[in-house]
Amino acid sequence: MQILTASGKGGFVLDSKNLKSILLADDIIDKPAVVISVAGAFRKGKSFLLDMMLRYLTASDKSNWIHEQSQRGFPWRSGFRRHTTGILMWSKPIPVTLSNGTGANILLMDTQGTFDNKSTVHESSTVFALSTLLSSLQIYNITGNLQNDDLEHLQLFTEYGRLALDDTSSKPFQKLLILVRDWQYAHELPLGAGGGSELIKEWLDTPTGKKELEKVRTHIRGCFGQIEGFLLPHPGQNVASSPNFTGSSAEMDTVFVEKLNELMPQILAPEKMTVKSIAGNSVTAGQLFTFFETYANLFQSDKLPKPKNIMQATAEANNMAAAQDAKTQYIKEMEFLHSDDHPSLEQTELLGKHQEASEKAMKAFTDRKKMGDWKLSENYRLRLMKDIEEWYKFAERANNTKRQKERLNAENHNLGLIGT
Ligand code: GDP
Ligand code: MG
Repeated sequence: MQILTASGKGGFVLDSKNLKSILLADDIIDKPAVVISVAGAFRKGKSFLLDMMLRYLTASDKSNWIHEQSQRGFPWRSGFRRHTTGILMWSKPIPVTLSNGTGANILLMDTQGTFDNKSTVHESSTVFALSTLLSSLQIYNITGNLQNDDLEHLQLFTEYGRLALDDTSSKPFQKLLILVRDWQYAHELPLGAGGGSELIKEWLDTPTGKKELEKVRTHIRGCFGQIEGFLLPHPGQNVASSPNFTGSSAEMDTVFVEKLNELMPQILAPEKMTVKSIAGNSVTAGQLFTFFETYANLFQSDKLPKPKNIMQATAEANNMAAAQDAKTQYIKEMEFLHSDDHPSLEQTELLGKHQEASEKAMKAFTDRKKMGDWKLSENYRLRLMKDIEEWYKFAERANNTKRQKERLNAENHNLGLIGT
């Protein structure tokens, strides 16, 4: 599903309806989200890779996944024309049990962009910035070799995110995987994760003596919690240029198949999955929707938003999520009032329960790592307090109704007794 589209005038439009149908579904909304995005220049096999990930994730036998025929997912195709610039999300979140036993959902994101001319660089940077802000694993897909250009692009894209999240102690982004396609120098650096990690070390850690380059590298290191690399070989002529390529593994080079087999568990095994987190708090699909809306609003116009505005918006969305969670916690604690098995309470007893639940909720809000200044957080705290008081009025009414019903039942019961 298309969830974000370039308007063609430099701005972006969020497809809220599509995004809602994915993230706000009953069985998805409250579960943590693992968000995997693939970004980079167009016609470099990004959508093809996502299709392979989908095949792996939905395979009944993981050891034989590549031979299972699956439905085509993300649109990949040969040719030079590109699709519209934007972000796509696979419409069916894939449930996963993480290694700590929690249930989460994997959301796969495909980005479309190009860096071939000036007018599209702005759009593509936005797509990259947004997908990096919103994912827990960003796969930066490049072809041939890692170039200084690629690093400079990466710096440009991540600049926004870094500023957006500057005032938190945690690194702004989670995981980055630099995935090199069509690697031709296997005699120098071996294919797979080993060669990939050597390449990353060489590129990010070996001193060059060039000041500008060092700055770019320090910036990239500082942005991501974890950076990994992986080298994939050329997939063979059928995959690379045949218009009749169907996606079947028989048409791919054997070494390519072998390396894809190594890559998939490296990113998609449950113990490798990282739940999306913002400012150190894990994010549910419902909260992710709020963040999408917040950021998309900022990038709506053709002017790039000021980093300060991104920071402010992130802080607001972050405070909003914290307040929402605290309120949900209060409502849950008071839920017993709506159960038929639970008798009504005396007024003082009810007040006691409310005070207890309300203190707990307010503490949950204060204890949570939040962004932005004290004043912003204080505003949200006051609003939360007011919301809880409103809810308490509901609770009081529910309790009174219950008490009246109980009284009526008792009277009926007594009448019944008199009648017999
Ligand atoms: P995207 O624009 O980056 O999403 O690229 P696509 O996934 O649509 O793929 C564009 C073309 O490249 C298709 O014909 C694919 O079959 C082909 N392709 C897929 N993976 C690779 C690869 O690793 N190397 C090469 N050379 N071509 C690939
Ligand atoms: Mg594509």
